[in-house]
Amino acid sequence: MSLSIFAARSKSKNRIIKSAIELQENYFGTGINIPYVLIKGAQKGCKGVILSAIHGDELNGIQIIHKLTEVIDPENFAGELLMLPIANVPGFNLHSRYLPDRRDLNRLFPGQENGSEGSRLAWCIWQYFIQDADFGIDLHSASYNRWNYPHVRGNMRKEKVRKMAAAFGTNIVIHSKGVKGSLRREAAMRGIPFILFEAGQTNRFESDIVEISVNGILGVLNQMKMIPDSEKFEKIPQPSTTFYGKSEWIRADNGGLFVPRRFPGDPVQPDDILGDIHSIHGDITGNIKSKTEGRIIGFNLHPQVVPGRALYNIAYDSESINEPFKRVEDKKDKN
Ligand SMILES: [Zn+2]
Repeated sequence: MSLSIFAARSKSKNRIIKSAIELQENYFGTGINIPYVLIKGAQKGCKGVILSAIHGDELNGIQIIHKLTEVIDPENFAGELLMLPIANVPGFNLHSRYLPDRRDLNRLFPGQENGSEGSRLAWCIWQYFIQDADFGIDLHSASYNRWNYPHVRGNMRKEKVRKMAAAFGTNIVIHSKGVKGSLRREAAMRGIPFILFEAGQTNRFESDIVEISVNGILGVLNQMKMIPDSEKFEKIPQPSTTFYGKSEWIRADNGGLFVPRRFPGDPVQPDDILGDIHSIHGDITGNIKSKTEGRIIGFNLHPQVVPGRALYNIAYDSESINEPFKRVEDKKDKN
């Protein structure tokens, strides 16, 4: 029997369902409730799923889902949209990226019914929310003490994934299949196109990030023919998207205090100085240099650094993932 929420709620007449599903047991032997919102459009269409806080301290996605619930009009919507504001409730309760057993939930999909505690949670999320979806979006922020420029990641060699990424409208997209057990990789391998959106930092609601994300997701829903073109939607400026084939962290060579000169979103050239390392007395004792041409997509926020600390994440190689894809808006213009 399918556990899918799409199937369980298929006969419901409610257009917006705000509920929770009891999945596992906590230390008191009572249930852990995973909250969800299901929007059932008045017209027929495809089924989408959006997840947030798979890493329990990455909170921007929660507010993104709240905003989407507010702005989507089910009467003017085709298909069904299932949203999980907090996928990793045990991690969220601890203000932690990880599960209580220190495992990363985003390495455990599609999960096992009788596996480890994290694997069981991944299995439940897969069975209830993912298996019947036609596409998905996974919302993340940079990990602790880092900040990410808004960008989309996914397997850009899959056409449907690439189209979703372009419709999101971020000006940086990175080809990255994801590691084994990550939701985007395991879903895409099973024929469910999935993108991951990265933006901002942990433990915060960042209003500008939320706004960019909501616009991007509405772009994807429009591309999926779930929301119609509207005057409001057409006015959203869509920057041109550059697809990058790779990304790499530049690390500190010496210990000290990190002072950035360049910031996420900036284009960089080989040998550009991106930041400095200062001694405790304020002298510059090291430079952080770009190795390649590309764009800064994320950086370290904490001044105290030691050798090996990841300081700048650079997206590069826009050639190997060359761009045969025509943007959705271009096609619309021609038709
Ligand atoms: Zn994350």
